[in-house]
Amino acid sequence: MGANYLLNPQTYAGEHHDDETKEMFRSVIKYYEDKGLDNLNEDDADYKVCYDMLKFQAKNQIFARLLTPKEHGDENSYFDLRRITEFNELLAFYGIGNRYPFQVTMLGLAPIWMGTNKKVQKWAAQKLKEGRIFAYGISEKEHGADLYSNEMCISELPDGNYRADGSKYYIGFSNVAITTTFAKIKDTVDEWVMFAADSQHPHYNDVKRIRTSTYGSGYVGEYRLVDYPVPKEDVYAFGKKAWEEALAAINIGKFMVGVSPIGICTHSFYESLRHSYNRILYGKKVTDMVHIRRFYSEAYLRLLGMRLYVYRACDYFRCSSSEDRRYLLYNPIVKMKTGLEGVKVMTNILDAASAKAFEKDTYTETATRDIQGPPRLEGTAHVNMSLVIKCIQSFFSNHKEYPDIPVRVDLCDDNNLFNQTYGSIASIQFNDYSKTYKKYLDMPNVAQLYKQVEILEKLFLECPIEKALKRQMDYMLNLGHMLVVVVYGQLILEGANNNDIHKRTVNQLFGLYVSDMAAYALDQISKYPMNDQQISYLKEIVGTTPVIDIEEWNAVWTEDVEPLNDVFSMPK
Ligand SMILES: Cc1cc2nc3c(=O)[nH]c(=O)nc-3n(C[C@H](O)[C@H](O)[C@H](O)COP(=O)(O)OP(=O)(O)OC[C@H]3O[C@@H](n4cnc5c(N)ncnc54)[C@H](O)[C@@H]3O)c2cc1C
Repeated sequence: MGANYLLNPQTYAGEHHDDETKEMFRSVIKYYEDKGLDNLNEDDADYKVCYDMLKFQAKNQIFARLLTPKEHGDENSYFDLRRITEFNELLAFYGIGNRYPFQVTMLGLAPIWMGTNKKVQKWAAQKLKEGRIFAYGISEKEHGADLYSNEMCISELPDGNYRADGSKYYIGFSNVAITTTFAKIKDTVDEWVMFAADSQHPHYNDVKRIRTSTYGSGYVGEYRLVDYPVPKEDVYAFGKKAWEEALAAINIGKFMVGVSPIGICTHSFYESLRHSYNRILYGKKVTDMVHIRRFYSEAYLRLLGMRLYVYRACDYFRCSSSEDRRYLLYNPIVKMKTGLEGVKVMTNILDAASAKAFEKDTYTETATRDIQGPPRLEGTAHVNMSLVIKCIQSFFSNHKEYPDIPVRVDLCDDNNLFNQTYGSIASIQFNDYSKTYKKYLDMPNVAQLYKQVEILEKLFLECPIEKALKRQMDYMLNLGHMLVVVVYGQLILEGANNNDIHKRTVNQLFGLYVSDMAAYALDQISKYPMNDQQISYLKEIVGTTPVIDIEEWNAVWTEDVEPLNDVFSMPK
């Protein structure tokens, strides 16, 4: 067995972290291991909010160090996307209810750091140091994803200041946080604003807790502002800038939501594999049954792919600039694809672990519910797909050379995230994906996927889809998923190379993606009228199947999966 590429907190070494970060991560790991699985599960089942974790983080200045840019914080604080990503994965590993305050604090702070309001920035950094958390108040009960219809508004007072009125729904930690609130100036169409509403202010009403099947130890709530004073000098941004910064914060937030399935699936994978490996049926290990091995092998491979993609996309996001906006395609894919892949991983785990996975005292029982959230919350997979679809034409035909993107584990402020360039997604240029694929065609299943991709490219370039159809999400969904596989595969190949993942493993992983690609093509032909040429190309994709190599497939079990049966066990 080579090195285990998956996260294992119990062997955390943090080679690329500085001493202080190592100490911080170790203290968090110790906190959860001391707390134990039973307590974490009980909190989740009883809807007991993770206030003890919030106290722990405040005492140790964890959110302050991880989420304050150096310019506004202490010497050791950085808004470093790589470190934040790793921390997110770690929190999700122990439970996403505990990850939720970190997520909403990051979302609530991002528009502040993006803005130019120095007074608010100084104040926010101080509040974070004092242990306060932040929240992100975008959603409204009646309007969901339709932000244009938001009703929360501010009205101008004779002295030039404002008062805010309205309510927000499904807001994380709305009961204790300082909530970055998205609103517009009363009686305008698009005079957007963002400002902070403090949950402890008398004009801020925490209306109710909304109990959801996920985030049991988090707090999801509704708040209402009535005559809430908003001094003009405290508004973060007005108009188009407020709108753009709200969306730019979501670009960071959606990336982090996409990280959480990795933590969830990894913990569940270790727990369930250990159970099956040690269970004896008919005088043999459960994992001696070949189909059980297949479930775990597929779960492992897909999980590996998720992690390779996310950390590679993190490199791109950290290197992004006004000249390189490829992250605007890669990030929605982080959110939707790892979310959807996480569901597949958990299905495989459940198929193997069966009854045990339904016991309330396992991590997996909560994980089966929690894994449903990431592809659906903070923008569904289809909302993100609408962004992906905009890139189809340019991805295949409008290439540009970019400098190589290095692996980014250096500790620094990723200030570029606060200066995102807005504008048409369809005009973003991509490097020629085929150059990456061509380096790895010695792996038969990479070669098969590449064959499918070449056909897909012909489909898009030779049979352009009518404008009206392009706007029909229903019609475009499978085609969008096929583009996602191309991009996903490209970054995974880069990540696998950077992390020395064995070719056997990568080849078998790509065998799964070849099947996925064929399934999307078949679904498209089965549901929608297409012309003869399109049908012919899609059938060619369906007919391009993985190269089966049983010996290599078995080696994934013996070399990659089986050795993980006893690497992690959560203290009770
Ligand atoms: C546990 C939990 C925590 C949350 N935390 C927060 C938070 O902290 N802050 C916050 O602001 N919100 C939060 N939300 C709200 C969440 O992000 C909602 O998903 C969001 O408001 C969208 O609303 P909706 O899910 O009701 O879907 P709707 O907007 O009502 O959409 C209904 C359906 O239409 C589809 N649809 C809508 N628009 C499009 C489009 N443009 N393209 C394609 N399909 C579309 C959707 O995908 C969905 O399937 C949270 C929700 C939950 C359940």
